[in-house]
Amino acid sequence: TRHHQVVIIGGGTAGISVAARLHNLAPELDVAIVEPSQVHYYQPLWTLVGGGEFARDVTARPEADYIPSGHTWICDAVEGFEPEQKRVLLREGEPVEYEQLVVCAGIQLNWSAIEGLEDAIGTGGLCSNYSYDTVAYTWECISSFRGGRAVFTAPATAIKCGGAPQKIMWLAEENFRRRGLRDDAEVSFANAGARIFGVHKYRIALERLAVERKIVTRFGHNLVGVDPGKKIARFLTGEETVELDYDMMHVTPPQSAPSFIADSPLADEAGWVEVDKYSTQHTRFADVFSLGDCSSLPCAKTGAAVRKQAPVTVANLLAHRGGQPLEAAYDGYSSCPLVTGVGQVMLAEFDYDGNPCESFPFDQARPRYSMYALKAYGLPELYWNGMLRGRM
Ligand code: FAD
Repeated sequence: TRHHQVVIIGGGTAGISVAARLHNLAPELDVAIVEPSQVHYYQPLWTLVGGGEFARDVTARPEADYIPSGHTWICDAVEGFEPEQKRVLLREGEPVEYEQLVVCAGIQLNWSAIEGLEDAIGTGGLCSNYSYDTVAYTWECISSFRGGRAVFTAPATAIKCGGAPQKIMWLAEENFRRRGLRDDAEVSFANAGARIFGVHKYRIALERLAVERKIVTRFGHNLVGVDPGKKIARFLTGEETVELDYDMMHVTPPQSAPSFIADSPLADEAGWVEVDKYSTQHTRFADVFSLGDCSSLPCAKTGAAVRKQAPVTVANLLAHRGGQPLEAAYDGYSSCPLVTGVGQVMLAEFDYDGNPCESFPFDQARPRYSMYALKAYGLPELYWNGMLRGRM
């Protein structure tokens, strides 16, 4: 077995943010990051890749460039946890022992939960911004659309970036309008949920926009199957099955805690790593912390939330090492730049209680170019050069 003082599982948004902060604050610590992927992705920009505004390559950089100097990168996948023995099990290498563990392996996309989808996604008008492999095809579908039915789905499960299923719909609708196809197109939002957005203030603004832009909203519609040959989608609405035909369909896949976490002693009943919602410390294993999409933190799962969680996790992990009380607390902050068109963003920001907590001195429920510029040009720079370097 190998041993490191701190072991971080996952080198995504949360893993690298935590690693960089530990590097800056406690350079003497022996830290290892377990991450199987050679590539680090900036997923928030996938919305604008699908919308045809950016090439997908700009969202991918070598993982190696973001492993802090002095930290060990174990390029392997975790398969299990033995928290009593303070040990993690890897797919290929020998087990790794730790003094403290940070679990941030993201959320799992369950394509196969929709019958017929796994083999068909990325072909025949079935696209998704939720994966690097399929995101470029979204723009192909939008730009080659010639009228007919464009369907945008959202599943019944928790997902990352709750706004993403509709952002791409607004972009597509605008594209169809600009190309003079709008009268020949039905654009529909088929959402398993009951409303267009969770936070009241933005929900009202989005509902108004949906009426203005003639979006057909189908709530309580849970996509369960596709017939790619006939281009028919099958939805469950309560007890009933409803079929809709489509010319293109953007699918947001059902998501869950990664299976290797859900099947481990770290999980709560729903499968997420069970942590205190303020300190991010595990409720049963004091030397374990978790943040980001795989944690049980009851916030909207976004990179923006991770930005506020990472400093809390790091402060409390170091306090715990030093035998000090855990004083840092996360307030549930999350944010979602709702792209409503090219050059238009409604920047939703809110806390655990769904209260808006806006950063700017104007009404953020109104879409603006300045907030679009922030999302398209500002935030990616802040991400690569600030957040992933432990500086913000
Ligand atoms: P990730 O960044 O996904 O990282 C998880 C890491 O764990 C990955 O590197 C993965 O390879 C690794 N891993 C997986 N399995 C294992 C294993 N077995 N062992 C070790 N490592 C493993 N957020 C925003 O803030 N704003 C937005 O506008 C926004 N838009 C989005 C649009 C789309 C289309 C998508 C898909 C996401 C969007 N997000 C947005 C969400 C944001 O990307 C995530 O919430 C964020 O990346 C979560 O960070 P994380 O570290 O928890 O997970």
